[in-house]
Amino acid sequence: MIEGHEPNPELRYVVTFSGGKDSVATWLYLTRDMSLPNVTCLFANTNHESEITYQYLEDLRQHHGLPLESIQPTLEDFRGELVEPKIRERMAVAYGERWLDPEFDVWSQPLDMERLAVLKRRFPSTMARFCTIHLKVLPMARWMKQNRDLETILVTGVRAQESLARAGRETWTRDEPTGCMMWLPIHKWTHEQVFECHRRHGVPPNPLYRAGMSRVGCWPCIMCRKSELATMARRFPEAFDRLEAMEQKAARATGKPAMSFFSNYKTPERFHSETCDRTCKSFPSATDVKLWALGDEPAKSGQAMLFEDDWTEDAYACTSQYGLCE
Ligand code: SF4
Repeated sequence: MIEGHEPNPELRYVVTFSGGKDSVATWLYLTRDMSLPNVTCLFANTNHESEITYQYLEDLRQHHGLPLESIQPTLEDFRGELVEPKIRERMAVAYGERWLDPEFDVWSQPLDMERLAVLKRRFPSTMARFCTIHLKVLPMARWMKQNRDLETILVTGVRAQESLARAGRETWTRDEPTGCMMWLPIHKWTHEQVFECHRRHGVPPNPLYRAGMSRVGCWPCIMCRKSELATMARRFPEAFDRLEAMEQKAARATGKPAMSFFSNYKTPERFHSETCDRTCKSFPSATDVKLWALGDEPAKSGQAMLFEDDWTEDAYACTSQYGLCE
């Protein structure tokens, strides 16, 4: 018996899975500590993760029995945002004339961060975090709808220690969008307990933690801390090359002089080399952000303070109730 819940072989337990330490600990707890049957780890593949995470997931699947279900966001997860002719028109500019062919099935095409930016004519931001909705929440909801053969319990690795918002969550609630019960089994666990769970079951944490990252998710996430961006710039500079290419492609497709993956308040203005032709506001390119992250900004003085890691944890925590962006 678990806090009023009777484990039942007739039930399916679906863990919303990012490949980060909390989702891995949740899977291990359910399958190794609780011996629960019918556990599925649902991973929404944004095609914007680190190669290290993809390799880690494959290693968990092959060598540790991870019951991984990787789902691909598609244009179906954008339905209702724009009318179909508009979608065809915008995608054709970026990805070729075939998008204008009426025989070409728009809705089954993959959706990723770059395509989302082309369709929205902007990248997401902390204030407009449409990435989580279109790349994670809606694809998972679609999967849940298509897999209704067993009664399902949704399980997430959300922990109280991560943020004030998360601390206020109940261990058991009803998830309104899916109608399923949602369970947060490791809600009260500390970071140490999470890593201890990995050790106890002989499963390594995602190698990105050892490389200096504090969270696992998009590579990078729009909300990445300066310290993590610095680590990325030093150890994985190709991640910035990819961002630059994505910014340039999205800008060409939308007819804008430039587009930025990061918001204009990510860096001080002296690290803004681009200007919006409509609002005349300056903003940083991915290259500017890389230079800023690598630079010697005084962490606790003047303007730089606004941009440093003195934000609360809440500013970085995913607001999705499923904890989809660790
Ligand atoms: S990890 Fe960050 S960039 Fe990726 S979907 Fe979540 S909030 Fe958006």
